[in-house]
Amino acid sequence: MIIYGTRAVKSTISTGNFHCPQCETQEEYRHRKARKFFTLYFIPIIPLNSLGEYVECRRCKSTFITEVLNQSNTASEQAFMTLYLHAIRHSMVLIMLADGIIEESEKTAVLNIINRHGHNDMTMADLEAYIVEVQRENKSITTYLSEVAPALNDYGKEMIIKSALEVAASDGHMDMSELQEISVMGQALNMDESHLKRILNEALPQQSS
Ligand SMILES: [Zn+2]
Repeated sequence: MIIYGTRAVKSTISTGNFHCPQCETQEEYRHRKARKFFTLYFIPIIPLNSLGEYVECRRCKSTFITEVLNQSNTASEQAFMTLYLHAIRHSMVLIMLADGIIEESEKTAVLNIINRHGHNDMTMADLEAYIVEVQRENKSITTYLSEVAPALNDYGKEMIIKSALEVAASDGHMDMSELQEISVMGQALNMDESHLKRILNEALPQQSS
């Protein structure tokens, strides 16, 4: 019996460093190419069609289209990113402070979220210093969110609300004070009410009746 078939064979074209959109940091990449081969007894022998090229981050293993290597951020994109990260930091800390108690689990959740959205460079000590600053500033949760809102699509807005829910739930219970702040966030982000309700219902199935 002859066993034959096809198989994708991957090869590396080049390697280097790039700004990984997933890690949000400079990481090593592999620029790879996949090609379909005709196989005989599981051995690739005849190259068939090319399956395309992609760029893979060595750290998170995410794959991207090759254009990711040519991207250079413009000044306005960088300015937006700074404002966006500020809005995330500020709103997550205020959600944590909403119920009046700061728990370790909440601090850990906030730190993870900030680092996930940002450059992965905030330490617990940085966060603690920032919490004090937010308390002293005493600015509304809408302050920075309403500035970034016009540039965000529904998905981007949803990500922020879901992050806030993650912080609110991280101490094991969801308080009215937290939910109220989250709904204020939704308004600042200019989300329509049904969209916000749907996200809340998904997060709180026991209260969705
Ligand atoms: Zn990565």
